[in-house]
Amino acid sequence: MRDGARRRGANRWRAAAVVALLGGGGWAVAEAQETPEAAALRAIQTAAATGDGAYGLVRSLTTEVGPRLAGSPGDRAAVAWAERKLTELGFDRVWSEPVEVPRWVRGEAAAEVVAPYPQPLAVAALGGSPGTDGWLEGEVVAAPDVAALEALPDEAVRGRIVFLHRRMERRPEGGAYGAVVPNRGKGPAVAAAKGAIAAVIRSVGTDSHRLPHTGSARHEGKLPAIPAAALSNPDADLLEAQLAHGVPVRLRLRLGCRDEGTASSANVIGEITGGERPDEVVLLGAHLDSWDLGTGAEDDGAGVGVVIEAARLAGRVGGPPRRSLRVVLFANEEFGLSGGRAYAVRPADELARHVAALESDLGSGRVRALRTRFAPADAKLAERLAAALAPLGIPVEAKEAYGGADIGPLRRLGVPVVDLAPDASTYFDVHHTADDTLDKVSAEGLRHQVAAFATVARLLADATAAPARLPAEEDQSRSR
Ligand SMILES: [Zn+2]
Repeated sequence: MRDGARRRGANRWRAAAVVALLGGGGWAVAEAQETPEAAALRAIQTAAATGDGAYGLVRSLTTEVGPRLAGSPGDRAAVAWAERKLTELGFDRVWSEPVEVPRWVRGEAAAEVVAPYPQPLAVAALGGSPGTDGWLEGEVVAAPDVAALEALPDEAVRGRIVFLHRRMERRPEGGAYGAVVPNRGKGPAVAAAKGAIAAVIRSVGTDSHRLPHTGSARHEGKLPAIPAAALSNPDADLLEAQLAHGVPVRLRLRLGCRDEGTASSANVIGEITGGERPDEVVLLGAHLDSWDLGTGAEDDGAGVGVVIEAARLAGRVGGPPRRSLRVVLFANEEFGLSGGRAYAVRPADELARHVAALESDLGSGRVRALRTRFAPADAKLAERLAAALAPLGIPVEAKEAYGGADIGPLRRLGVPVVDLAPDASTYFDVHHTADDTLDKVSAEGLRHQVAAFATVARLLADATAAPARLPAEEDQSRSR
């Protein structure tokens, strides 16, 4: 939003009469003459600013459950944890909806340069990769990305190990992820189609630690037919440096991963029932599963903590909301979006009562921008959200909201979505690595996210008229 518009919005919301942005990333919420709605929002923001509910939830989830890869014992423990927490926190209704998930087991992983300069490499299998059945050795053929790989003649790839090496840039919005992640999601399948015997990628991550970033190598439901793994960034540098000598580089790879079919998991749902229109729902989503290398603290323990605490504050501070607030903790986002897809399969009349959805799945940073995806007729409602977030120092970004992976299927069906985009500058340092642990989680960032999510959820739940539904997207498979 332009600064002028933001100032006008701030003036309209009386509680924002004095906005004090404190040094060190804090914020203060000011008092003035205010409407009952503004008073409720201020009470919610004050409770968020002083509470540590979200951090406590992340600590509990990472300590008492830890890694929770789809279909694993950790995944089952996470479902039980979520049901128990939502119940203990006093949500009016708590239930689980069964979701079938793929079950893939990682096993061991090792890689070595065999020639010209033998060295071990730090490597992690990509989700969905088959195992190698002992060592698999071949000459390396390098390409920066999928397009460059596709442009290579098949003879240059056949019988070799493909190495995709494009780097991911560090950016606050984390937007560089989308540019590089096809190397992981699609690269191994393209390499297989061209006759490669394996694929390794430079980690999709912004750190320089010797920890590889795992992630799904599935694409459009297809498993790669060849073993696929990620090298840590320094190991990708090392491989590039050896390739730069212009002599053939040979690599060997040993992966013990295997496909074990399917398992049962669940979307866990907690609802605070609306006082006037209980059938209408504002949905707050995050995913309960995680990759297995770390404890899933930033991805997506942070989001789980934020949406539970935000819904609790929005529903319990300042009297009951008009509509219901529904937390959905989605099953298996990481390895095929099983929970997000399953949730959206509901009767049309029930989906029509989902008035808006928002998701937290980009770490624990402070919220850096508001984006909405509303019909043009709801511009006023978007302005009210902006005004209510002004005391938190959150500007509007003039870009349409994306929603998130798990609520993507709802967005494609026309449910209005709101983004509260966190600063993700450091998120991709630990994303999908063994380093995704509680110490990386920002308690201050979580408080700021809780304040923002609770504010938006409450305002949408109380709005006299719900935002209008948008036309459904024609291509339901489009991911972004
Ligand atoms: Zn995630």
